[in-house]
Amino acid sequence: MYDMKELYEAFSVKEAIELRLAHPEAQIIAGGSDVLVQMREGKRAGKELISIYLIDELRGVSLDENGAIRIGSLTSFSHITRDPIIQKYINVLGEAVDLVGGPQIRNIGTIGGNTCNGVTSADSASTLHAWEAIIELTGPNGKRLVPIKDFYIKASTVDIREGEIQTAILIPQESYENTFGYYYKYAMRNAMDIATTGCSVNVRLSPDKKAFDRVRIAYGVAGPVPMRAPSAEALIQGKALTMENAEAFSLEVLKDINPRDSWRAPKAFRQHIAVEMAKRCLIEATKRCGGEIK
Ligand SMILES: Cc1cc2nc3c(=O)[nH]c(=O)nc-3n(C[C@H](O)[C@H](O)[C@H](O)COP(=O)(O)OP(=O)(O)OC[C@H]3O[C@@H](n4cnc5c(N)ncnc54)[C@H](O)[C@@H]3O)c2cc1C
Repeated sequence: MYDMKELYEAFSVKEAIELRLAHPEAQIIAGGSDVLVQMREGKRAGKELISIYLIDELRGVSLDENGAIRIGSLTSFSHITRDPIIQKYINVLGEAVDLVGGPQIRNIGTIGGNTCNGVTSADSASTLHAWEAIIELTGPNGKRLVPIKDFYIKASTVDIREGEIQTAILIPQESYENTFGYYYKYAMRNAMDIATTGCSVNVRLSPDKKAFDRVRIAYGVAGPVPMRAPSAEALIQGKALTMENAEAFSLEVLKDINPRDSWRAPKAFRQHIAVEMAKRCLIEATKRCGGEIK
């Protein structure tokens, strides 16, 4: 049994907003894979919960009229991995969330929960940063769109305001067109372990496939919130596909990241693997783009 004061269930976004306004202290629960574990640990004991899990309109992946990929906030990890739109345009996101926990967690855990918990190690977060995702929030005043880099305020704190819930994650067409990515999760075990560090890179090449037209790189657990590495992105822009440039790019990430010492790994180790991961992800993403770094 869980020590909760009350459970309210919303069946539509409108109901969820009304419940949020009526019970401002209540905690939203989606799949519950974070919330219920914390409740059992006593961290959220005695709280009111608002379940949004039955709002079916927030489940699934589709294309908006402007070409943006719309991922409903209640979409599970296993759905994302199998979804044809994800597989066609941003396969790397499906691969990244396929590394979350084990099969049960991937069936119940949602991408909304994975971003709204504000955790730096969340396996979807670095890929969503690298693809410049937009967070859609819906509240009493309608919809609000927030670039993912601004959504994360500080460790475990995201920009969700009074009465709001997160309703979707959008990937703009200009971010995914002709772009291919690769995600590397470094963890102490292959399954049921959170990332020591995670790195996601995506690449767009020039038409002759000889130069980097645009590269995006983002990390999890390289700072208190997931983050891009803008110095490295700027350094590689327009450069030729050489190993020398790939190495310079990967070393440049040290200017941007700020990992910490923790029981999982010391800062110096995280810096070391962050450099190596940047290089490996760049090489693999470039191959997926039809290029080769020599
Ligand atoms: C055994 C185990 C292993 C795990 N392994 C991994 C792993 O390898 N990688 C990884 O990234 N995560 C891992 N997790 C963490 C967890 O599964 C994910 O963070 C999951 O995505 C949370 O989604 P949920 O729907 O279960 O969220 P919930 O637990 O329901 O909610 C999480 C947080 O988000 C808020 N929230 C949820 N949805 C919304 C919304 N739509 N709008 C506003 N707020 C919302 C809740 O209020 C809460 O603060 C693991 C968890 C467990 C228990």
